[in-house]
Amino acid sequence: MTTVRCRIAPSPSGFLHIGTAKMALFNWLFARKTLGAFILRLEDTDAERTDETFVHAMCEGFKWLGIHWDEGPRFGDEPERGAFGPYRQSERRHLHQQEAHRLLVEGTAFKCFTSKEELEALREEARVKKQTFAFRSPWREASPEQIAEMGDAPCVIRFRVPEGFTEVHDLVQGVVRTNNKEIDDFVILRPNGDPIFHLAVVVDDGLMKITHVIRGDDHLTNAARHVMLFNALGYDLPKFAHLPMVLDEKGKKYSKRDRGANVLDWREDGYLPEALINYVALLGWTPAEENRELFTLPELIEAFTIDRWGKSAARFDRKKLDWLNGQHIRRLPVEELRDRLVPILQRSGFDVQSKSEAWLTRLAEICHEKLPTLNHIGELAGFFFHDIDHYEEKAVKKHFQVEGAADALAAVLQTFEQAEAWTAEALGASVHRMAESKGESLGKYVHPTRLALTGKSVGPGLFELAELLGKETCLSRLKTAITHIKAKLWPVT
Ligand code: GLU
Repeated sequence: MTTVRCRIAPSPSGFLHIGTAKMALFNWLFARKTLGAFILRLEDTDAERTDETFVHAMCEGFKWLGIHWDEGPRFGDEPERGAFGPYRQSERRHLHQQEAHRLLVEGTAFKCFTSKEELEALREEARVKKQTFAFRSPWREASPEQIAEMGDAPCVIRFRVPEGFTEVHDLVQGVVRTNNKEIDDFVILRPNGDPIFHLAVVVDDGLMKITHVIRGDDHLTNAARHVMLFNALGYDLPKFAHLPMVLDEKGKKYSKRDRGANVLDWREDGYLPEALINYVALLGWTPAEENRELFTLPELIEAFTIDRWGKSAARFDRKKLDWLNGQHIRRLPVEELRDRLVPILQRSGFDVQSKSEAWLTRLAEICHEKLPTLNHIGELAGFFFHDIDHYEEKAVKKHFQVEGAADALAAVLQTFEQAEAWTAEALGASVHRMAESKGESLGKYVHPTRLALTGKSVGPGLFELAELLGKETCLSRLKTAITHIKAKLWPVT
């Protein structure tokens, strides 16, 4: 059996778009599943639109997602990898030219001297007659003498489109049949020797021994031309799979300008690559197991079969992504979560340096269940790093501006002062005992205490956070809150 070789062939004219990431992911998962090779080829022939910063942003996007290529161009310190290079299309121009000239010699391509004006006139004539137009060049049957007579006059090389029909057997779209009459004798090489996309992509796929061309369905209309070229060039025909694009939440094409179109926006917003991968895989693949959506990477590779790829475009569903992100955060080992949170805390300006590794691990542990995204750590745990400068107004009304609030906090203060040990268990047990001895509910003490210690009404478990905050800080914040309540300083800022 031939080994699967599939590829992503992005044009680096912008950041890594979520749609390109989807195509890369489907290729990559397919390669992992079949123990094949996943190849990155940069289609950077458009010098005007290619920019090294985009090349970098794109590769960085793949790296962040964890979509590692087995073969591909040099990137940063990493050397080019693979036996079928170069992996940048701009460095393969000589191969495109060589193959175009081979077609010329073999007669499946020809030199065409038809001027732009002549071609436009023919098109116009067809338009007036309301006829469909596919260019059959008068030069396709020119004799070698007629060609020689033209000397060095500028010309293009065109493909001699054969008669008949071309079928694309697409793994997702089914059989797509095209009458070759509808296709121009298309250009493959420009007068300056630059290859046209169709030639470059087929020569590269052919010489790189690509077995599966998995790409966006915007290329479906190109596939018939590609099949003709594969056949003419004598390369093994790969299998094709044209996948639907990613639509935004309104059902429109995901615009480059929208936040989230750039894969790295999600990194910036605190999403896990594991969650994004899981989510994007569901945009065009239906798991065999009904109603299952959550997959770790190994599970995804295991379950990801091509027969369950779909042809209808899926809308982006932010709620589902958010849910998956939360789930993947819960699945991270706590040390791993800690390591991912630390840079975010640092970016927020919090003094992480003065905290021990054990302290930071415990912080990750007590926040583990509460984080929708990594970035929420700032909001959830900011009070560990700075004094409270604001109590939530609504919570103040509910828990501070009520009869007995100061007394409740004073009771907690006393309990804390006398706690046998400064651990969550000991603190919890002593506050429980105190509430019970007074015949009061635990809530009467817990809610104002949380507000006093954190400034908020929700957050990590109260006794866990108190342990981590430390005795001195807890006592001082309780005293401050009592003073504020007694002085009726509302709202407290
Ligand atoms: N460079 C093309 C694009 O970015 C991809 C061509 C292909 O996958 O065949 O759309």
